Amino acid sequence: MLKGLLEKSSCAKCRICCGFDRTDIWEMPVFSEEAKQKLEGKLGHIEFIRQGDSYTVKPPELHGDELFYCPALDKDTGCILGDEKPFDCRIWPYRIMEVEGKRAITISPVCPELYSRPLNSLVEFLERGLKNEIFSYADKNPDVVKPYDKSYPVLMFE
Ligand code: SF4
Repeated sequence: MLKGLLEKSSCAKCRICCGFDRTDIWEMPVFSEEAKQKLEGKLGHIEFIRQGDSYTVKPPELHGDELFYCPALDKDTGCILGDEKPFDCRIWPYRIMEVEGKRAITISPVCPELYSRPLNSLVEFLERGLKNEIFSYADKNPDVVKPYDKSYPVLMFE
């Protein structure tokens, strides 16, 4: 979904978005029933936490700088879900959040590749169509809307 903005090769070298520490474990992707079943089909039993009509992977208790990597990450080949990865992952580092009762698209400060770009270029990319896809997916799947985190600059309100 970020074709034209983010090169696959940059993501392949980084994968920071698939690892979580105790400060950003809330960022773990939301899996639809379908994506959950797909992951279980490939890896067997995984402990999930129900979140509305969706799921997140149950993380272990993290201490200090410990990182927890999403079980769908293969360290050699990347995400084993390929194009069927969760919507959260397909739009990352864009996020949809609820800011004072309104839905907004924000940008994660964790992505070194996009966060270094001028914010107006990130907004322009959204305006080319992605914003409509994000808001319309969130209409049908409200579990992807995350509470606002003030370290995430707001790019646009609905
Ligand atoms: S589902 Fe795939 S892309 Fe998303 S966090 Fe897990 S390994 Fe990364």
